[in-house]
Amino acid sequence: MAALAFAKPKAATKLKFVYSFGAKHAEGTGKMKAELGGKGAGLAEMTNAGLPVPPGFTIQTEACRRFLKSGVIPVEVEKEMRGALVVLEMLTGQRLGDVHNPLLVSVRSGSKFSMPGMMDTILNLGLNDETVEALGKLTNNPVFAYDCYQRFIQMFGTTVLNIPREKFTNIEQDESMPGYANREETLDAMKRIVEQHKSLIHSSSNETFPQDPYVQLQMARDSVFRSWNNARAQHYRRISDIPDDLGTAVNVQKMVFGNLGESSATGVGFTRNPATGEKEFYGEFLTNAQGEEVVAGIRTPRPLSELKQLMPKVYDELHEATNLLEKHYRDVQDFEFTIERGKLYLLQTRNGKRTGRAAVRIALDMIDEDLITKEEAIFRVEPNQLYDFLVPKLQEEGVQIEVLTKGLPASPGAAVGQIAFTPKDAIEMAGPKHDRPVILVRAETTPEDIGGMEVAAAILTQRGGMTSHAAVVTRGLGKCCVAGAGEIAVNEKKQELRVRGTVLRRGDWLSLDGSTGRVIKGKLATVPASPDDPELVRFMAIAEPFRRIGVRANADIPRDAVHARAFGAEGIGLCRTEHMFFAKDRIPFMREMILAENEAQRRAALDKLLPMQREDFLGLFKAMDGLPVTIRTLDPPLHEFLPNAEELRSKIRELEGSSNNVEEIERTRKILARVESLHELNPMLGHRGCRLGITYPEITEMQARAIFEAAVQAKKAGMNPKPEVMIPLVGSKKEFENQEAVVHRVATQVFATQGASVDYMVGTMIELPRACIMAGEIAQEAEFFSFGSNDLTQTTLGFSRDDAAKFLPVYVEAGILKHDPFAVLDREGVGELIRIAIRNGRRARPDIEIGVCGEHGGEPGSIQFLCEAGVDYVSCSPYRVLTARLAAAQAGASNLKIGDAGATK
Ligand code: ADP
Ligand code: MG
Ligand code: MG
Repeated sequence: MAALAFAKPKAATKLKFVYSFGAKHAEGTGKMKAELGGKGAGLAEMTNAGLPVPPGFTIQTEACRRFLKSGVIPVEVEKEMRGALVVLEMLTGQRLGDVHNPLLVSVRSGSKFSMPGMMDTILNLGLNDETVEALGKLTNNPVFAYDCYQRFIQMFGTTVLNIPREKFTNIEQDESMPGYANREETLDAMKRIVEQHKSLIHSSSNETFPQDPYVQLQMARDSVFRSWNNARAQHYRRISDIPDDLGTAVNVQKMVFGNLGESSATGVGFTRNPATGEKEFYGEFLTNAQGEEVVAGIRTPRPLSELKQLMPKVYDELHEATNLLEKHYRDVQDFEFTIERGKLYLLQTRNGKRTGRAAVRIALDMIDEDLITKEEAIFRVEPNQLYDFLVPKLQEEGVQIEVLTKGLPASPGAAVGQIAFTPKDAIEMAGPKHDRPVILVRAETTPEDIGGMEVAAAILTQRGGMTSHAAVVTRGLGKCCVAGAGEIAVNEKKQELRVRGTVLRRGDWLSLDGSTGRVIKGKLATVPASPDDPELVRFMAIAEPFRRIGVRANADIPRDAVHARAFGAEGIGLCRTEHMFFAKDRIPFMREMILAENEAQRRAALDKLLPMQREDFLGLFKAMDGLPVTIRTLDPPLHEFLPNAEELRSKIRELEGSSNNVEEIERTRKILARVESLHELNPMLGHRGCRLGITYPEITEMQARAIFEAAVQAKKAGMNPKPEVMIPLVGSKKEFENQEAVVHRVATQVFATQGASVDYMVGTMIELPRACIMAGEIAQEAEFFSFGSNDLTQTTLGFSRDDAAKFLPVYVEAGILKHDPFAVLDREGVGELIRIAIRNGRRARPDIEIGVCGEHGGEPGSIQFLCEAGVDYVSCSPYRVLTARLAAAQAGASNLKIGDAGATK
């Protein structure tokens, strides 16, 4: 019967805009996410699988794209929609606007990628002054009918006509109005609310609320399409890297009612716990409630386990259906359901978002259950999610803690910060670099809060469950969240929160434990997590065989090196020696060296630095025993080590006014003169890198001596040091040769005096376009290359990283650049230079070692590219090592030839 009802497309080539689903048959399939959106594809797939889905139709994304381009709905779309509506009416036996048996529908947005920024769903569409009466009679519950009606007008008013939500809420919260709870005696009041909503619409938008259900449908459809371009959606796409030109689909679906009394309910759930990954049927529901109430957190929902007692048969059916979905999609499902008078309906399914820890556990369990292969499993965890294993915990040992209350452990980790009550305050308090810890405390969060949620260290909400907006978004952002802490009362106007007699205000410190839900008063310390979690270890062991390149860490001091090694770093890819000079006990000697008037004075100062450097390097060799340690010779311009000119001038003025310490004045003047002489108009292109070592060879000499003396010492102590000396900012073979000669000369001397030698390499950083072009020549001398991708990006694009903040956001916004090139490697430009350098370098020296030590070495997308380009290793900050290892494993796995994968299972 259903098959008869669907009109077959005339010719296979004709573009189809509207896809019907219902009665166990859908025109679309689950594969058509691009056309039907995730939600529409899921509805089609569930329908085809024979699951109970209310019938409906999906208008595909191409209609959205055309509508947004031309501003009008194409006639074919309108025609097909009318046709699909007729089919839906036949399937349901109801008609839109019918005064006896009206069809009511929901209108839902849904794009290829799930996007909370888009239009809210409109429920109960089709109600008007007449059909509401019919619904009342049919259900024998006029209060229910009018409640649906007032909700519909409100949703229509806010989402289609853009009337602020508060205006409606005010009506509801008006003292003279009876609350939702005592609805028995409320028919008249409901009717009055309906009238008030209607007149509110009239006065705020100068439109009358449309009584014609088809007009309602058209208006709702068009505003879903338009919502693709609203500010929230655009913002969400930017932060989630979703292309702007996809458009959204519209789903129109017969309403089913979870609010028809106590045998009705609505809920959401997961086939496994999204916070821990535990294999348990997990979710929340509310009886006698409609749609968004569970997610909105207005009433606190009940755990799904209680449904088992309440409606055992429905519970079993739901459990079975969602298990089937999990097997079918071979991934955790996040589903929505409604029970209308004891009958179950599924309204949505999608792959569930999960925390990093849950992702790892689920991937491992699914391997054990033979649901996925090992190779698939490693793609079930996003490399950046491994941060979860590195999230800090609260430092509780030996401290008195005051637990104020407990909420739901919505997103793991711990955070300590100052309270902000509005997103705006959070942004302000976090500071321009977002580095001041703020805890955003809200009664509940809405998509409008996203700006504040992004800068906050953590979120605390009064209402809402494990699937509330706050919980879902924070898990996505990888930050800690405690949700639904029902004992706290948040008062945004007064800027305070009360909990069991304690009052906290804006700026007060709070500590949250997102793993247990505890809300703790005051500013606790946090301890970093350890990387030896057994599940993490097992997961990484499965991923590692796929990895074809090495992962090293950028570490300047032994402590960081020890950390990095614990996370699996296979050496140091970049040690920036200058960081060692900024320490308090060293900067005076550094300054002495810079202020020296001749070589002899300079050498004297360097001699004092030598033992300190040697100690540093010894520490690094110890931490990385047996692994390569790449040490870069001095790189930044010397003025960075001196006080700035302005400070010096005011110091001189002060001294001249207050004392007659002539000597001190004289000394300060001398420093100022040196600062002024070192001043550069463009330090980025100035006296730095190998240019320093070429003009002051004694600096390179001292550093080389420290390296080799430390290496020999380490070797004598039974270790296996592997120094790689790296010359920065080289653009020609001659520059390299100059510095290389110094290094070799010192090495020979040290080895001769110490009577022992170590193997070492001398290589160069590649961070100038010229170096990429001349790589063949440079490689005749250099034994390794390491791309300094930060500087290479600066010098290739001609953007100073420090000044780019002024225009980069505009560039990204305007689509001139897709990403910040300092975060995500510019493949076409910088990437092409890297390819050229690798090609030229390998031609001259086939076994040349090639690495990357810029920020991009820890960014998963860039790592993928770099693997393809043929680097031997990437190097990144210690905390990104895990991420880089997984990203490299994924890159290795996706390069596998078909058939290779089986071998690893
Ligand atoms: P979102 O993308 O925000 O999840 P949805 O379109 O899934 O939005 O809908 C929001 C809520 O409305 C969900 O709880 C869903 O179950 C409910 N809902 C949507 N369509 C219907 C319908 N036809 N009948 C009953 N409830 C519905
Ligand atoms: Mg939904
Ligand atoms: Mg550099």
